Amino acid sequence: MCGIVGYIGDQKASDVIIKGLKRLEYRGYDSAGIATLNGKLLIKKSVGKVAALEENLTNSALDGNAGIGHTRWATHGEPNDVNAHPHTAQHKKFALVHNGIIENYDVLKKQLEQKGHSFATQTDTEVLAHLIEEIHESETMDFEKAVQLALNQVQGTFGIAVVHQDYPDMLIAARRGSPLLIGINGSEHFIASDASPIIEFTNKVVYLDDDEMAIIRNDSYEVKTIKDVPLTKSVHELAMSLEQIEKGGYEHFMLKEIYEQPQTIADCMRGRLMVDENRIQLGGIEAVVDKITNANRLIIAACGTSWHAALVGEYMFEYLAKKRVEVEYASEFRYQDPLVDENDVLLVISQSGETADTLAALREAKKRGATVIGICNVVGSTIARETDAGVYTHAGPEIGVASTKAFTAQVVVLAMMALQIGLRKGTIDEEQMRELIRHLDEVPEKVDQILNNQDNIKELSKLFTYAPNFLYLGRSYNFPVALEGALKLKEISYIHAEGYPAAEMKHGPIALIDQHMPVVVIAATDHTNEKMVSNIEEVRARKGRIISITNSNNGDVNRLSEFSITIPHTHDCFSPLLTVIPLQLIAYYIAVNRQCDVDKPRNLAKSVTVE
Ligand code: GLU
Repeated sequence: MCGIVGYIGDQKASDVIIKGLKRLEYRGYDSAGIATLNGKLLIKKSVGKVAALEENLTNSALDGNAGIGHTRWATHGEPNDVNAHPHTAQHKKFALVHNGIIENYDVLKKQLEQKGHSFATQTDTEVLAHLIEEIHESETMDFEKAVQLALNQVQGTFGIAVVHQDYPDMLIAARRGSPLLIGINGSEHFIASDASPIIEFTNKVVYLDDDEMAIIRNDSYEVKTIKDVPLTKSVHELAMSLEQIEKGGYEHFMLKEIYEQPQTIADCMRGRLMVDENRIQLGGIEAVVDKITNANRLIIAACGTSWHAALVGEYMFEYLAKKRVEVEYASEFRYQDPLVDENDVLLVISQSGETADTLAALREAKKRGATVIGICNVVGSTIARETDAGVYTHAGPEIGVASTKAFTAQVVVLAMMALQIGLRKGTIDEEQMRELIRHLDEVPEKVDQILNNQDNIKELSKLFTYAPNFLYLGRSYNFPVALEGALKLKEISYIHAEGYPAAEMKHGPIALIDQHMPVVVIAATDHTNEKMVSNIEEVRARKGRIISITNSNNGDVNRLSEFSITIPHTHDCFSPLLTVIPLQLIAYYIAVNRQCDVDKPRNLAKSVTVE
């Protein structure tokens, strides 16, 4: 949530920053703003997307070789020009951009008002700017020190970047709970929320950890804690390439990412799914595999789409490894005084590895003695660094706000983990393992077949473009896929949609069904097929319109459906990896037909770094 870019070097800062903000825009697009130093502090802000800010800059370019920029995902104060970052204080000598929430902003604001400060915005962030100014000016404190002291007084989360006109050769960055890294390239340095804005300039980065700050100049940087303890940080090399974060000819990132799935699924399994040796090798969890095998419970905590992947994982672990699994919303887990101890393993799942609620769940479980493992996509992310062990999904950067390839990669990792534990525990024998591994290995090819055969998906998307509601039904492994299909549609097309376990329909949602209600039925698991056929009949009896996702040989389902999208057959366990693909495409095409901004749906942001 929110994107921060900072630059100091020989280039025109505003050019680097605008380009960087565009790459970070998936993190928030309520407003954008930039501040540069050119003898004095220059600021421009615009409500809406970065393009609006860029337009604003064409008339009055911001010169200078140092600056900071921000794309906002509003938490405090409506999205408008005034509340857009950067923020300043009374004397407008410095500017600050912020990702996160200053939780004690109200108390601080009242104290500052008593000291004569007046506030121009409704944001929590402006309070931090005034606090820094108050400390800097009233206590004639060095600016860097004033930032440090102010950060010690705020509660909540922050990733900040600051520039001051009297210190033109310096940027300050600091973080607690919101991701921030420093890019290093000889005589220029960068600050960014993630690596995407800097990858075209450098692959050398330093990740800031919580309660750390950096003083950054053209040719040097120093990192210390906000308690002033100097630190030596290691420099990491990024593996990501520029092509990976560009659209590559697709109209939207989401479509590109949907189409990447045969490759991303294969990448996720590469070197891990050992077909010839009939085993799974997950190096990242090798050290804790006994612990997972013997743990009392495996608790999986996640949010949004990752939570849906976790639910699929629950079915897989219970079936393949006979392992007790509990799936929790990470956001609830933390506040339920969880009964977790050293006999449990907590598995957290997060694409970005920065999801604030998931990170909080991880820390809570760790505090209570549990072994904590993770599944993340972003290498070097906070969750990846704070877990005891984990597996990367290797899906490449996911830019579309609605998650697609990250979901399938998460499910693949969960499948591999469940198979590995199952084999170890003896709940799967060698022969079953061979069969399961073969099925998993064939998934990329089958996803490719689905992607190459989607004419009726486009056709039905046209027909249902203006449907006000959708119902998604699935059983067993495909109940979470029903939730995921409904979520995709809600997120990007703003159509109200509900996902339900098919059998639950008769306990309520059936009352909604009439001739106007499209019902997407996922009927592609062998062991629930007959029951799904009965559910389809129940919908038809109320004139609901059936769209089924099923296998070509599933005669009953095909016959009873107004539209049936046929997919290749696989083992029931892995069917979510196939059934979700048409649901992603249905959501995508309906959103495009409705002229929605697919990659930047309203009110959403990609990496949810506030609680
Ligand atoms: N809390 C700040 C605001 O509402 C920062 C939000 C963000 O992370 O974009 O402006």
